[in-house]
Amino acid sequence: MSPRAYAIMHRMHHAYTDTEKDPHSPQFSKNVFQMMLRTRTIYSNIYKGKYEVEERFTHNLPDWPTFDRWAHSGFSRVCWSIVYLTIFILVAPSLWCLLLLPIILTMGPFHGVIINWFAHKYGYTNFRLKNTSQNLFSIDILMMGESYHNNHHKHPSAINFGKRWHERDYVYKVIKCLAWLRIIKLNK
Ligand SMILES: [Zn+2]
Ligand SMILES: [Zn+2]
Repeated sequence: MSPRAYAIMHRMHHAYTDTEKDPHSPQFSKNVFQMMLRTRTIYSNIYKGKYEVEERFTHNLPDWPTFDRWAHSGFSRVCWSIVYLTIFILVAPSLWCLLLLPIILTMGPFHGVIINWFAHKYGYTNFRLKNTSQNLFSIDILMMGESYHNNHHKHPSAINFGKRWHERDYVYKVIKCLAWLRIIKLNK
């Protein structure tokens, strides 16, 4: 997917959480599939420039059209599928493991559903906010820290989603590592 189009859509989610303008809200979709379809359409329209995007949502956002074209293309999706298939063939102890491949190939939407649907429906809150965001798991090994969605809505720019002692954000450690290796630069 295009990181730029996704970032715009995500900023819209923060600005319009739980309203009709929210690109993905369980409040305005009857089921998970309807919400996914709506998300896909909005993402696609943003990518194609068919969606009127407010200027505040593109502020400070890197614009790398060649990279975005590659990321969004069917060709890149096929390449990634081949990469995953190769890894499976190389390391899987049994061919039965290939049954997991469809889940891995659709991890993007799968992940989106867990956060955008379930973390706006179930869980606990640390912060009282004017939206339905919740922390889905108190120890989040499954989403590696991203399910602390109530914390994230309270502090959208914080790279560490964990706030309480038991809330461990493992991806935060990865981010810190990438910064230490000077692959990325963290905003102060
Ligand atoms: Zn949210
Ligand atoms: Zn966010």
